[in-house]
Amino acid sequence: MRQSQILLNTLRERPSEADTEGHGLLLRGGYIRQLAAGIYSYLPLGRRVLRKIEGIVREEMERAGVQEVMLPSMQPAELWMESGRYGTYGNNLMTVNDRHGREFILGPTHEEAVTSLMKNEVSSYRKLPVKVYQIGTKFRDEKRPRFGLLRGREFIMKDAYSFDISEEGLDLSYRTMFGAYNRIFARCGLRFRAVEADAGTIGGDGGSHEFIALSSIGEDTVAVCGHCDYAANLEQAETASWDGESIGSGAKEIGLDTPQADRGGAAAEDAPLPEKFHTPDIRTIDQLTAAYGLKPEQIIKTLIYKAGGDIVAVLVRGDHEVNEIKLGKYLGAEDTTLADDSTVAAAAGVICGYVGPAGLKLPVLVDYAVAAMTEGTTGAGERDYHLRGVRPGRDFPLAHVGDFRNAAEGDPCPRCREGHLTLHRGIEIGHVFKLGTRYSDKLSAAFLDASGREQSMIMGCYGIGISRLLAAVAEQNAGEGGIAWPDALAPFEVQIIIVSIKDEAQAALAEKLYGTLKKLGLEVLLDDRDERPGVKFKDSGLIGTPQVVVIGREAALERVEYENRVSGVKETLGLEESILRITEHATSSTFAD
Ligand SMILES: [Zn+2]
Repeated sequence: MRQSQILLNTLRERPSEADTEGHGLLLRGGYIRQLAAGIYSYLPLGRRVLRKIEGIVREEMERAGVQEVMLPSMQPAELWMESGRYGTYGNNLMTVNDRHGREFILGPTHEEAVTSLMKNEVSSYRKLPVKVYQIGTKFRDEKRPRFGLLRGREFIMKDAYSFDISEEGLDLSYRTMFGAYNRIFARCGLRFRAVEADAGTIGGDGGSHEFIALSSIGEDTVAVCGHCDYAANLEQAETASWDGESIGSGAKEIGLDTPQADRGGAAAEDAPLPEKFHTPDIRTIDQLTAAYGLKPEQIIKTLIYKAGGDIVAVLVRGDHEVNEIKLGKYLGAEDTTLADDSTVAAAAGVICGYVGPAGLKLPVLVDYAVAAMTEGTTGAGERDYHLRGVRPGRDFPLAHVGDFRNAAEGDPCPRCREGHLTLHRGIEIGHVFKLGTRYSDKLSAAFLDASGREQSMIMGCYGIGISRLLAAVAEQNAGEGGIAWPDALAPFEVQIIIVSIKDEAQAALAEKLYGTLKKLGLEVLLDDRDERPGVKFKDSGLIGTPQVVVIGREAALERVEYENRVSGVKETLGLEESILRITEHATSSTFAD
């Protein structure tokens, strides 16, 4: 394509609406433009990258035996009421009314629509399993659209759904999709991790994994082992127990009325008793460490939580954070919140900042890391005083010991026990769920099994944010001068720059190379504009093709400058040699897929 003819305007400065590097470069490179908050147009360059992503997704879906369909964006609100999600999605649903006042939802996802379709199309086990997918526009009434394509109100998704007759069938479908997702993200050149995840609002039980592209601007935090392939969402990541045992997210069931037995723990018979010391106006970990030369890991934090109707104390190390999801699971409570000041004062008999576990008349939940301490510093349960030399098991009971905190940098890996966890920010680009019969039960999608009995179809659902993936690739490959696109996604494979189009030898050589490469089936962008070289080079960086050929002073000698931005090699070559380099690179990057 000729650059003089393509709809492409680069911007010299980063627009103020850009809140990340990648977003800024997509705008500057003329890939996307904002129409309204969280709503974007894709210009020819952006559309070309999207098509590359969609192409890879289609190939891998076909390979995994998934059939392409297309479901409507507009869905009757009644269908969402039937599934129960009309309420749970709430204000995030984008809705429209037709002229008769009937309400429709602009689909953020298509579980209801596809289940309704399958209910009518499939009635016998002989037609199962079936896997279908579509690529299309989704809508979400995002309260605060931000980060460009990452959190928009209109976005492009690939969503797939599997229907099986048994749990074993679902396992196989899930594993097949899991493999396909790994291939898709690897082919897109992403640095990513598949992590164990919470199923969130889509619901269902059983397995769920998120695919996270590593990026400092990501809204998710993942814990990753440096030794084995363990990776999990921060909310889900397990921490190793005091005796090295790893526990699952479904914690042991110990009722709150269990007598608080003294399990001894690390207490030594002859150790000195805790020592009270005066700490006027010292109420935070930071103040304690600064004033008394303590390390946060020598302090035991005592936090008071409301869980359902109960009030409990939770002990974590000074450098650790309580994980409310784990706490809620342990207590079997839906709603777990930090108690307010007056509740703390009433329950613990002292103001916040001086609460300690010794003598507390509340159930005390002790995190593994605290149970493993020999002694620590805590609040004294008395205003303006703390205690040092407090021993777990001796000075407070170890009746409820468990995993109550977020994983932290450097924690031992709960899976292999050899590696240590590091924390990374990331962008969620894909999600796979085992749904089970959550939707098929509600929407009566049943089939007759081999013995003629009616059974609910067993479902899985599998999403990839296509426009998000584009944004994630842009973030990971954002450089100073532009986005260095990976070969598989670049809008063009090679760009030819004519330094001066008024120079006949340059123009002629460029046309010759352009024609040859096009005949070889390559995607070529020819900068044939009457612009200063500086402008052309700057734009070339913003466009970010993996290979560039500059035709300048040595054109008369049929010599060009070839640059491979992937390998970083720059060389002056004869015309034939440059063609060889370009085709070699194209072949090797194709085989790398
Ligand atoms: Zn590990």
